[in-house]
Amino acid sequence: MTPESYDLHCHSTASDGALSPAELVARAHLQGVTVLALTDHDTVSGLTEAAQIAGKLGLRLIPGIEISATYAHQCLHIVGLNIDPEPPALLAGLGGQHAVRAQRAHKIAEKLEKKGIAGAYDAVKTAAGDGEITRSHFADFLVAQGVVKDQQDAFDRYLSKGKPGFVPTQWAPLEDAIGWIRAAGGIAVLAHPLRYNLSIKWLRQALAAFKLAGGQGVEVVTGRASPDDIRLSQQLAQKHQLYASVGSDFHSPENQWVELGRLAALPADATPVWELLG
Ligand code: AMP
Ligand code: MN
Ligand code: MN
Ligand code: MN
Repeated sequence: MTPESYDLHCHSTASDGALSPAELVARAHLQGVTVLALTDHDTVSGLTEAAQIAGKLGLRLIPGIEISATYAHQCLHIVGLNIDPEPPALLAGLGGQHAVRAQRAHKIAEKLEKKGIAGAYDAVKTAAGDGEITRSHFADFLVAQGVVKDQQDAFDRYLSKGKPGFVPTQWAPLEDAIGWIRAAGGIAVLAHPLRYNLSIKWLRQALAAFKLAGGQGVEVVTGRASPDDIRLSQQLAQKHQLYASVGSDFHSPENQWVELGRLAALPADATPVWELLG
């Protein structure tokens, strides 16, 4: 039997991905992925379409999500794997996250307007369609307006913490986000631990709180991780006795650096999170 190829973190048009759930699953299949988790920001709305095509292609779709959570004034991303998308606690929680996103979008647009950039809210609302509005939509809008040269430039100059379009946001408390995932029968995984620009000391504190609240895994291999990143992340996993996950965080075919399933192997001493997937 050929070994499975896992990718347990990616996005569709249900949030800030460029491909529809069906297009995303088809692309993953072409790339040789055999087990894929669709993990859109704060929504499960892409999962039904993804599961339908996955069934036809013979790819195993893990129903997932990426929840924005607040811990000690810091936003952390919690991936939920193998969730039942129906439970009332999860749906109520996601309703709250949706309201936070909608409100924040209005505030970001107001801030941009003050900087002389008008029309942001209508543009991102149209671009997001039925999906969740994210800062990526604002970045695309700023690029389209010719205000910045690319997405990175948009985050660096307008959308990141401390920049004129940044709106401090109170997401679900970390414990709640993990609780919704666990109540939905899922596995909670801390996404991309090294992408928060936090000190190792701070990360260790966050991981201790994460584990205490029922978190079970941490991403050890992500889309653009260097060998050093992978080693460090695995050390964190080991220290806190967390399962190791792998996920590209794929958003768009236009980003040539990140591809579905194109991931380094887990270190030999890692305990893969798929041991929990059954
Ligand atoms: P939000 O959850 O709405 O705050 O949006 C966060 C999303 O913006 C992330 O999931 C990334 O897709 C994207 N993002 C965040 N920071 C950057 C960055 N520096 N460059 C490009 N995209 C980013
Ligand atoms: Mn994103
Ligand atoms: Mn993330
Ligand atoms: Mn992501």
